[in-house]
Amino acid sequence: MKSKVTFILICFVCLAAAGCSGSGQYKWEVHDMNRPVPDIVTAGKEAGSAPSNAIILFDGRDISKWELKKNGKAAKWKVENGYMEVAKKAGDIRTKQKFGDCQLHIEWAAPIKVKDKSQGRGNSGVFLMGLYEVQVLDSFNNRTYADGQAGALYGQSPPLYNVCRGPGKWQSYDIIFRRPRFAKNGSITKAGRVTVLHNGIIIQDSVELLGPTEHKKRAKYKQHADKLPIILQDHGNKVRYRNIWLIELSEEQGQ
Ligand code: MG
Repeated sequence: MKSKVTFILICFVCLAAAGCSGSGQYKWEVHDMNRPVPDIVTAGKEAGSAPSNAIILFDGRDISKWELKKNGKAAKWKVENGYMEVAKKAGDIRTKQKFGDCQLHIEWAAPIKVKDKSQGRGNSGVFLMGLYEVQVLDSFNNRTYADGQAGALYGQSPPLYNVCRGPGKWQSYDIIFRRPRFAKNGSITKAGRVTVLHNGIIIQDSVELLGPTEHKKRAKYKQHADKLPIILQDHGNKVRYRNIWLIELSEEQGQ
């Protein structure tokens, strides 16, 4: 009798435990009407134009959201005709605001006049968090190393395709970036990830970063802040930028 009661009790405890783990595993029930619905966002009027929830980083006229990387002074890049252009010896520029996880839209054009070759031709770069470069380069009929051509995660991951338009032509990057996560002791717990669409075509598909961009050596993570400025590179070529906007992404969804 006693063993029968014990058996029934064990079964009850097991069933209760199974029930708890089943309903406790998820925050929301399937089709839960209490689940918060997403905010309404109005999309841009044309492909590539900023939606209503975007932070406008450059609208073609106002460069005030940017400053010189070297000293925080006013960004001295040339602004005219709806774009900004790398100016001679002006140096890299960075956003005054700092960002972590984000979607970034940016349009660029390499100089129409072809000069030099390989890495010397239309070189610039978009540095996410100022550390992780999505390469900007005139890769139209311009051979260079694969992990350094347009759309490469420089020194790490070549783009899936070369979809570079010719010199002087406007092209777009749509970048989805998830920053790396670090433990309190500084060790990496989750690598950064980057997705890039170049002229609307996927060229980096949620690629894991190996660490901050390096030249001629392997990247290695080093702990840094959760938010840092975006940097545009002055590589000595008169690359132009326009229509730059960004959406901050929910950290929670990226976990
Ligand atoms: Mg570069």
